[in-house]
Amino acid sequence: MTTLSDAVAKRRTFAIISHPDAGKTTLTEKLLLFGGAIQMAGAVKARGEQRRAHSDWMKVERERGISVASSVMTYDYNGKTFNLLDTPGHEDFSEDTYRTLTAVDSAVMVIDAAKGIEAQTLKLFEVCRLRDMPIITFVNKLDRESRDPFELIDEVEQRLALDVTPASWPIGMGRSFLGCYDLLHDRLLLVERSRDKKGAEGESCSGIDDPKLDELLPADAVAQLREEVEMVRGLCPEFDRQAYLDGTMTPVYFGSALNNFGVRELLQGVADMAPAPRPQPAVGRLVEPTEDKISGFVFKIQANMDPNHRDRIAFLRLCSGHFKRGSKLRHSRSGKTINVHNPVLFLARDRELAEEAWPGDIIGIPNHGNLGIGDALTEGEELKFTGIPSFAPEYLQTVRPADPLRAKHLGRALQQLAEEGAARVFKPTIGADWIVGVVGPLQFDVLADRIRTEYEVPVHFEPTSLHTARWVECDDALKLKRFVDSNQGAMGTDHTGAPVFLARNAWHLDRAAEDNPDLRFLKTKEQI
Ligand code: GDP
Repeated sequence: MTTLSDAVAKRRTFAIISHPDAGKTTLTEKLLLFGGAIQMAGAVKARGEQRRAHSDWMKVERERGISVASSVMTYDYNGKTFNLLDTPGHEDFSEDTYRTLTAVDSAVMVIDAAKGIEAQTLKLFEVCRLRDMPIITFVNKLDRESRDPFELIDEVEQRLALDVTPASWPIGMGRSFLGCYDLLHDRLLLVERSRDKKGAEGESCSGIDDPKLDELLPADAVAQLREEVEMVRGLCPEFDRQAYLDGTMTPVYFGSALNNFGVRELLQGVADMAPAPRPQPAVGRLVEPTEDKISGFVFKIQANMDPNHRDRIAFLRLCSGHFKRGSKLRHSRSGKTINVHNPVLFLARDRELAEEAWPGDIIGIPNHGNLGIGDALTEGEELKFTGIPSFAPEYLQTVRPADPLRAKHLGRALQQLAEEGAARVFKPTIGADWIVGVVGPLQFDVLADRIRTEYEVPVHFEPTSLHTARWVECDDALKLKRFVDSNQGAMGTDHTGAPVFLARNAWHLDRAAEDNPDLRFLKTKEQI
């Protein structure tokens, strides 16, 4: 029988972060191949191809279409169970990505060897850093002309302020890319031998001076390899697991996902180095994964996958306990008990009914809108997990139904979309229009389309003169009330009824903050 601590020890829940086109989809596909999830790997690939063939907007829609199946991929490799959480590629949907990162214990950062650190890599890295997330780096596309590997590791070190230690070292690049030397296990990995589906094991060596290397590699390549390895070992610190777990050191693998090269080593690296499910912070205490009682939090909602059924799936990250189908759990927000009788486990092949799940696993809970992002499910305890952010929108528009008689329907649609986390929705205290806020402007197009197709309300979005929105909090309820009452023209509420200040411009916001030093004007608000 599996014990809780065994199940926890063998789990690795992680996400891949990268700039678009660095090779995340390709790497995901290859990682799944190793886990025997070939069918799913095909789907991921198809998705990659479709994406390139369509506009951004189409791409987003298409991603939604298959994203329930592929947003969590669970597979086994070498005695470990991996939960790989997918993150949306387009930066306008980065909010989704941020939330997904709250549900993983570590990340793999993919970098294009010709480009180095790119804008989106940096942004996502910063989010990981906020959580001291351990990160393994994979430098991809070594089969192309790349930047010098010393320059690349230097860039990671400088721009991310991380200690860097290569786990493997490339031998040549582009057309003359021969393979890598595995610095952690003293093994020679050759590209030509890894062409078969799963890549070869590699040749064990007694060290970088092993004469075997002279037999297997051209003389000039061996000479260069020995010289570079000596430099690397002199320049870079040794791998320090604690520093990696603390998020201050990243081991770097080199490879080519397209050629299956370096993927096995990366996967083994995640198995060996990456943390098992970590304790999750909650108000007042840390929740240990090995606690007997079940607990978890919702980090993502996917709604209306099937327009004929108003179904929603809440993605729950299990934080502790052994979950079994039919478990009765307390829902933090309503205080009600939920009988989870039809949970979905995201096995790589397909959705399957989950009979059981362990800490680190993600289960999908079909529901009709009662579960929201940030909600906790527990076996009775009143828990509130922290660190699940809601972002102040950077783009605000008003929304109106094309047919004024559909205003009520629109209100309902907006409420549901806000609960799903697809947008911020504000009701100004004065005036009839709703204000919708998003992080990336492409989200407006998707919202208009969803409101039309899923709720049958054609709508118009129109620009506003508003600059930004801030949640307003104050420890003194009376002071807050006074502010709200005297600023009615600039106040509204979000979908939970929390007060929001709608600023006309930066000066308006600064002024309000200066005049009311006891109030907090918050850019992000933790979900309750
Ligand atoms: P994503 O946007 O990060 O998911 O990137 P994709 O996996 O879709 O890859 C972007 C492009 O780079 C595609 O054309 C891939 O075929 C290509 N690609 C990915 N990995 C490699 C690699 O190791 N070598 C080469 N030459 N191309 C690659």
